Amino acid sequence: MKRIRIRVGALSLVDAEALRFALEVASRGTPAEGASIEIVEEAPSFRCRRCGHTWSIDEESLRRFAEERGLTGTLHLYPDAIVEYLSCPRCGSRDVEITRGKGVILEFVEIDTGE
Ligand SMILES: [Zn+2]
Repeated sequence: MKRIRIRVGALSLVDAEALRFALEVASRGTPAEGASIEIVEEAPSFRCRRCGHTWSIDEESLRRFAEERGLTGTLHLYPDAIVEYLSCPRCGSRDVEITRGKGVILEFVEIDTGE
């Protein structure tokens, strides 16, 4: 039994199936070959630095937001750029930070050695 779990922040706009395919190809001939690959998507969350309000958006809304502003390629390479386009839904401040939903994180690799 071999398992790999990867957490993908939705802000990176990584296509989970493309990632899975790339891992399957890249693992050929390695101890990870044939592992079951679990990809967990993490929705983005934001926090307003002025009033402390926190909120999140679902992946579909995020993709629409990025497409409407021509940001898809930018966010893929630099997810932090989204804060330039956000404002707090409660107080309107543009001083917003990302609290979740960035990056691609390898959570664990489990390999049964048969011992
Ligand atoms: Zn605010």
